[in-house]
Amino acid sequence: MPLHSPLLIRLGSANAYLLPARDGYVLIDTGDPGLTFLLFRALERYQISPREIRLIIITHIHYDHIGGLWAVQAASGAKVMAHEAEAADLAAGRVVIPPGTYPITRLLGGAGQRLSRFFRFPGYRAEYIVRDEEQSLHEFGLDGRLLYTPGHSPGSMSVVLDSGAAFVGDLCPNTWYNRFFLRTHFPPYADDVAAVFRSWARLLNTPARKLYPGHGPPYSVDALRRDRMLDEQKARR
Ligand SMILES: [Zn+2]
Ligand SMILES: [Zn+2]
Repeated sequence: MPLHSPLLIRLGSANAYLLPARDGYVLIDTGDPGLTFLLFRALERYQISPREIRLIIITHIHYDHIGGLWAVQAASGAKVMAHEAEAADLAAGRVVIPPGTYPITRLLGGAGQRLSRFFRFPGYRAEYIVRDEEQSLHEFGLDGRLLYTPGHSPGSMSVVLDSGAAFVGDLCPNTWYNRFFLRTHFPPYADDVAAVFRSWARLLNTPARKLYPGHGPPYSVDALRRDRMLDEQKARR
């Protein structure tokens, strides 16, 4: 059963997305480590061979999004695309944890940063390194573009399709924690808070209508527009 629309694949706390392209598929992110079997199971359910994945786009190199990279890349032979600002850390296998943006996540982030020095992953040298603010994905069989949307991390990218579907990594997550506790889609961890707001503005300037986050269910871009207004008011006070 061929896929006609993006498929959300839940891999632990994080989402991966499989996008039908003109020739084969494009995978966005690879989820928590150790859960790649769930991704292969989803492919099997749709009778898609891993070899049909032509490209793996890494929205950013936090481990909950690249945990399955090695297994999926080995099974698919797909090329990997990452942003220049994070390609060296990806190649070196460096574990990067951004600072928290709320009192509780600042505490957790600080502890994580101290621990992260003791961890490494195998490292991967991305075949495609993105250097532009914006890049067409036409040559990869997608009607859409890649947008540089830093803030949560220095090399965060989003994929915005002409259809209005936007895959945003951790730029504006939609976890229960965000929805019911923080009441905003602002990321609980971010490298650069001002850059998050700038990237939100960039994203809101595209045809994006429905957002597919790296954590939590898809939601309407109107919610982000509302958050942006409220959060910027708060930041000014
Ligand atoms: Zn992240
Ligand atoms: Zn994440």
